[in-house]
Amino acid sequence: MSAKLDEKLEPIYQELLHRNPGESEFHQAVREVLETIGPVLCKHPEFADRKIIQRICEPERQIIFRVPWQDDSGEIHINRAFRVEFNSALGPYKGGMRFHPSVYLGIIKFLGFEQIFKNALTGLPIGGGKGGSDFNPKGKSDNEIMRFCQSLMTELYRHIGVYTDVPAGDIGVGGREIGYLFGQYKRITNRYESGVITGKGTDWGGSLARKEATGYGAVYFTQEMLKVRNDSLDGKKLIVSGSGNVAIYAMEKAQSQGAKIVACSDSSGVIYHKEGIDLDTVKRIKEVERGRISDYIESHKKAKYLKDACIWDIPCDIALPCATQNELNAKDAKKLVENGCIAVVEGANMPTTPEGIKVLQESKVAFGPSKAANAGGVATSALEMQQNASRASWSFEHTENCLAEIMIGIHRRCYETAEEYGATGDYVSGANIEGFLRVARAMDAMGVI
Ligand code: GLU
Repeated sequence: MSAKLDEKLEPIYQELLHRNPGESEFHQAVREVLETIGPVLCKHPEFADRKIIQRICEPERQIIFRVPWQDDSGEIHINRAFRVEFNSALGPYKGGMRFHPSVYLGIIKFLGFEQIFKNALTGLPIGGGKGGSDFNPKGKSDNEIMRFCQSLMTELYRHIGVYTDVPAGDIGVGGREIGYLFGQYKRITNRYESGVITGKGTDWGGSLARKEATGYGAVYFTQEMLKVRNDSLDGKKLIVSGSGNVAIYAMEKAQSQGAKIVACSDSSGVIYHKEGIDLDTVKRIKEVERGRISDYIESHKKAKYLKDACIWDIPCDIALPCATQNELNAKDAKKLVENGCIAVVEGANMPTTPEGIKVLQESKVAFGPSKAANAGGVATSALEMQQNASRASWSFEHTENCLAEIMIGIHRRCYETAEEYGATGDYVSGANIEGFLRVARAMDAMGVI
């Protein structure tokens, strides 16, 4: 089970459970941070005295609202949407919007909480926030998606702004949705404020390499972790869960570095392709046709579609969970270890359960936590904001170079911080402590806010 908390932190955690009942993912995300920051409080008792932890755990503002919309047959539907503006010590709230039927306040709070530390790790001036809705985009027409996005923005517009809160995409929210959301914002406000939302189309204010950034960034982070062990991606066998934006561009970058991807998945099953996944087919199915991954085998007769399989049972050198939270548990972790896996790097947010992380770390599998490993997406969003503010558009190459530098920097700081706090090689501690310190110092400088 989970590690014991520092004696100063246990009552804080108990109070948090009491104040936020039923929000298990939020509890999990907070607990992981509290388990690792005990040593910081020994060095900096002032943070405990000034209740920085209790303040960080309480969102600055939480907005919950109704989103009514009509489907193509005229029937009315009512969804619930959220925007949790968690922490603005380092900059305007920044984080994506998630559209998925599983969304409720607990999911948005876990994502928003993680975002605070992730954004701090990038070193860029962005605070933490997250939003979303329990709307299910699956099977909806373009017009239904548009009407939903317009209805959502009709409320959200009053809460966001270039200097206030800057949404972007997440699961279920990509370029199409960002377009509808921005269009409605512009229409209501009568202002072309490019920097109010990121992940825009590249011909109307978006940044080149933003689409690729989360996946590419996770692979840059993986390469840095391997370098520490005098190893590289070349010739490695990878499995990547998911087949959305993060998974696709993680596969693309990993392949370009000589890795072979043997499996990917979606919520309906797993594709196993021993000869190596053909990314053009995955992109066509997922980005153009918005179809199911099972269609892959129509183009690749040697590949297998495994409907009820668990992707983590497939032998690999490196696993990249890029689908969703808690998709890799202790049993899966044990299987990966048994099969000789040397590294697990999180492209999705919090895809490994606490018990799964424990198994991996105890077995000396290099583990890259999402806060650090998938920060490339939001970092490039901040680069998009920079371009918007200066009315510039950078080249793909320049933007990707900035992204690579940022990921190398995040890796170095996480590694060094872990070392400084006596936890060499523990990137979970490194990321949590480094992220916490940055936010705590800024909050402390600003007084009791
Ligand atoms: N949803 C992404 C994340 O989890 C990106 C957020 C953004 O670009 O603001 O970090």
